[in-house]
Amino acid sequence: MEVLKTINEKRISRRTFLKGLGALGAMTTLYGCGTVEEATPTPTAEAVVERTPVPQPTPPPITEEVFAGAAPHNCGGRCVTKAYVKDGVITRIVTDERPDKNLVDGTGDNPQRRACLRCRSYKQRLYRSDRLTYPMKQTKERGDLDGFVRITWEEAFTEIAEKMQAIKDQYGSQAFYNHYASGDGAAGIGAATCSARLLNLFGGAQVYRSDYSWPSIEHMSWFVLGQNKYFPSGNSQGDVTNAELLIAWSNNYGDLIWGTNSMWYMQQAKEMGVEIIAVESRQTNTVATLTDNFIPVIPGTDPTVLLAVMYVMLEENLLDKEFVKKYVHGFFDDPEPALYHGDVDNKKYIVPAGASLAAYLIGNNAEMVDGTYIQAASIYPDEIYYNVNEDDLLFGKSSFCYGQTPKTPEWAEKISGVKADTIRELARKWATKKTTVLVGGGWQRQSEGEQVPWLIYVMGGITGNFGESGRNVAMNNGKAPIAFGGMPAGTNPVPGELAAKLYDAANLTAPAYTPAITRASYPVFLWSDVAKNGGTGKSDWNDGQVKRMPVGIKCLFAFGSNALINQHGDTNRTAELLKDKSKIELIVLSDQFLTPSARYADYVLPAAMSWERNNAATTWVVGDNVIYMNKAIDPPGEAMQDYDIVAGIADKLGLKDEYTEGKDVEGWLKETWEATEYAKSMPYEDWKKEGIYVTSDENTPPFIEFKAFFNDPATNEIYTPSGKIEAYSQALVEDYEARGYNNLDDRVTLGGTLHDKKNTGRFVYPIPMYIPILEGRHADGSHPDPSGVFAKGYTFQLMAPHHKNRSHSTHNNNAYLNELFKKDKDGNPAFLNPNREMGQVWDDNVYEPVWMNPEDASALGLKDGNRVLLSNDRGKVYASVYITNRAMPGVLWLGQGAWYDPANDGVDRGGCPNTLTKQRPARICQGMTLGSDTLVSVKKA
Ligand code: SF4
Repeated sequence: MEVLKTINEKRISRRTFLKGLGALGAMTTLYGCGTVEEATPTPTAEAVVERTPVPQPTPPPITEEVFAGAAPHNCGGRCVTKAYVKDGVITRIVTDERPDKNLVDGTGDNPQRRACLRCRSYKQRLYRSDRLTYPMKQTKERGDLDGFVRITWEEAFTEIAEKMQAIKDQYGSQAFYNHYASGDGAAGIGAATCSARLLNLFGGAQVYRSDYSWPSIEHMSWFVLGQNKYFPSGNSQGDVTNAELLIAWSNNYGDLIWGTNSMWYMQQAKEMGVEIIAVESRQTNTVATLTDNFIPVIPGTDPTVLLAVMYVMLEENLLDKEFVKKYVHGFFDDPEPALYHGDVDNKKYIVPAGASLAAYLIGNNAEMVDGTYIQAASIYPDEIYYNVNEDDLLFGKSSFCYGQTPKTPEWAEKISGVKADTIRELARKWATKKTTVLVGGGWQRQSEGEQVPWLIYVMGGITGNFGESGRNVAMNNGKAPIAFGGMPAGTNPVPGELAAKLYDAANLTAPAYTPAITRASYPVFLWSDVAKNGGTGKSDWNDGQVKRMPVGIKCLFAFGSNALINQHGDTNRTAELLKDKSKIELIVLSDQFLTPSARYADYVLPAAMSWERNNAATTWVVGDNVIYMNKAIDPPGEAMQDYDIVAGIADKLGLKDEYTEGKDVEGWLKETWEATEYAKSMPYEDWKKEGIYVTSDENTPPFIEFKAFFNDPATNEIYTPSGKIEAYSQALVEDYEARGYNNLDDRVTLGGTLHDKKNTGRFVYPIPMYIPILEGRHADGSHPDPSGVFAKGYTFQLMAPHHKNRSHSTHNNNAYLNELFKKDKDGNPAFLNPNREMGQVWDDNVYEPVWMNPEDASALGLKDGNRVLLSNDRGKVYASVYITNRAMPGVLWLGQGAWYDPANDGVDRGGCPNTLTKQRPARICQGMTLGSDTLVSVKKA
C-alpha cells in the first residue's frame, strides 16, 4: 500500500525530522509582544522518544446494560460512543473500545473513532432540568416568554394542520419553507428530513441552496473545479503524510473536528516529518501544537498573500508555463484557448489579452508582458463599485480591486502585515515541494468570500499540486461519506415551478457545464430577505433571485434548528422580522430546549435527543463508516422523536399513511440497511449491536482526487466549460447575470475588452482579485472603509471562530463544558457548585470570553477578566476579556454559537457574535455569512 510504503521510508529518516525541528521558527513573524516560540516551546531531541508498550489496566466489571451509538450534531465528527445504563438512567458514556491502529507504528490507518469532549459530557445535556417536556403555544408577541402556554399534542397537531391548510389555500405551496437545520446530525431520519418530507407530501416548498458555512467555497468549486457536489474534498486522509509540505491555511483541526480523526492524521504527518506551515490570524491550538512555522495575517487580507506568492512564481520563473496552460484556463491570456469539451465554442470562451489572472498579477508593469503568455498589461481598473440598491449605504461607493497595481510581496506586506521576505520564501517552497494544502472554513466568511477559495484552487493547479499522492488543495482530505439514505424526503415540485422565474439561461455560453444548482433556489442566508420581500419585487440586498420570488415565506418549519436567529446574521434585525406576523404567519419548531430560536416560534414541540431514540449517522464530510444510534433511555415528559411529531401533524392533514408508509423509525432503518451492500457482511441486528460498520480502511485503496484529470486532461476533463481549472471563469460571470443582476458599471472603463466586447467595468469580474472586506483593516491604514464604520470608532476586528466546547450553538448549555471556558463576573472560571443537582442551569453574570492582545488591553486599561461591552450600530454584547499574545493587536475573538440573550436594555448577555454581524451577503454567491467581517468598539463595562 502506497501510503504505508511512504510511511516506512519516512520512519527510517527520523533524524531528518529532528533536524527539521531545529529549524523551527525560521519564517515566524512577530506580532504583539509575543512570538510563536514564546507560546510554543520548541521540541528538543530529548523530548522525542520511541514508543514503548504501556501496560493496560484491567477494566472494572461492567454491571450496566451497554448501548452502542453516537450523539452527533453539525460538529465535524461522527464518533463512536457507548452508553452504560442502569435502572433506566445513563450512568456513564465511553467511546470506541475496538483495537486501535496507528500509521506511525505501521499497524494500519483505521484508527478508533474516538469521541471528543462534547459527546463524552452528553449527560449534561440529557439531564438538564430545563428540557422541553410538553408542547407549547405562543399567545402573545413572538419572543415574549410569558406568552407560552402548555397545550396537548392533540391541540398542537390539530392547530398546526389547520393553519397550514389555510396558508396553502391563500398563498399556495410556494409560501412554505423548511429551514436549514443542523442540530440533529442523524443521517437516517433527521429532524429536518421529517419536516421536509411532510411539506413535500403536502404540495412542496421553496428551497434554499448550500448552508451557513460554505456557500462561497461551494460556489467557487462549481465554477473553478467543476465539482458540482457539496464541497471539494482531497485525497485520502492518510495521504497527508505523503506530502513534503503541509500548508494549513485558516485551518484549525486542533479545536475543531473535521471528519473524525482530522487532527490525528495531522499529528501523524508531524511525527513523520512533514513540514507544516500555518497561515492564520491567531495562534490557534493547531498553530500552538502542530506547526513548524506560523505566518500571521490580518483577517480578510489573505488574498494579497496568495496573489503575491503567485507574483513571485512569475517573477522568479518558478512555474512550468506549458503545464499551467494544459491544466488551468485563464491563468495566462488566451484569445484562442484549447478547450477539452468539443461542444463548447472556443471563440466564445476566450481570455482576452490583459484579462488573465497573470495580467492582473503584473498590473501595469509592462516589462513583465512577454507577448505569449501575458499579452498585455492588466485591463482591470483600480476600483470596483457595489451592486446595491439606491437606498443602501454602499450605493455609489467603491472599493479597491488594484487592477493596475503589480501584486508584489511589498504591496501585500503593506496590506496583510506578512513580511515580503516571508512571502518570497513561501512561494519558493510551494512551487518546488510536494504540497498539500488543507484550508479551513473561517477565512471566506466575509463580503468578498469568493476570492480566497478561487485563488487557493488556482494555486493548486499552477503549482501542479493535484492528482498525485501528497499533492492537493482541499477543505479536508478524505473520501466522501458512504451512502446511507434513511427515510427519503420525497419529491418537491416547487423548485421546478420556480426555475423559469429565478434563472435566465438564455445567454449562457456553455449551459451544459454551468452548474444547475443556482437555478431553482436561493442561498439559505437570504431566507430572511425572502421572508421580508418575497412577492414585492424587492430585495434588501439587491439579490436578483429574491426580487423574482413570487411570494415570501408564510409558513416556516424549523426542526432541530437554532439557525433561525442565533446562527443568522444580525440577531436584532432578525428578531424584528420574526415578530412581524404580517410576514411569516406560522412558525413551527421542534427542539430539546427553549433556544433563542424557539423563543420566536408559534409552536414549540419538545423533541427527543440522541440516546432517547433509534437512528443512524454517516460520517461528517469524509469517512467510511455508518453508525447505529441506539435508543438507551426514554425521553423526558411528553417529548417525542421528531419522526413521530411530524407523523402527528401528517395525520391531521390526512397524510399519515403516505408519510410513514406503515413504518416506524426502526422499520425505515432496517429496510434501508438491508437494501445496502453492507448488509451482506453485517446483518442488521449485528450492526445495531456493534454500533458501527466500517467499509474499509480509509486509505485502501488510496484515493487521489483529480488523478484521472492529471494523467490525461483531454479525455478526463473536469466539468467546467474549458474542461480545466478555471482561473478565468466566464461562466461565473454569466451565471451572476442569469440570476438577475445587471453586471455593467459604466463608472469604470476597462483598458481592453472582456468576453462580451463591452468596454465598461463590472461588479463581478471573471478572475479572482483582492477586494478589501467591508469592515476590516490594512497594516498600513489604507483600508477604504466603504461603509464608514471604522471612522465612527468601531476599530477592532471581531472574529467569531468555532469553539471545541460547542457544536455551533449545541452544547452552549452543557455545564461541564461551560466550566472550561465561560467566566463569572469577576473573570474567574464559572464553576458551578460541585454539589449541585444534575440539571442546574446557569445564572446571569456568566460571560463568554473574548480574546484580546495585551497591547490593546493596556491601551484600554483592561485587566484579565474585566467585563467589556462590544458594540457597533447593529448591537451590543457583554463579554469577559481574556488577555493573550495569541490574539494579534486590533483583532478580538468571540466564539460563535453562544445563545443570544438580550436584557431589557438590549445588551446581549449571552455573548452571541451574531448580535454584531451583518445580514448582508457576499458579493458573488450572495450566500455567505459575514462572521469574519465585523468592526466593533470595546470598553470596560
Ligand atoms: S465530533 Fe461530534 S460525534 Fe464526535 S464526539 Fe464530538 S460531538 Fe460527538
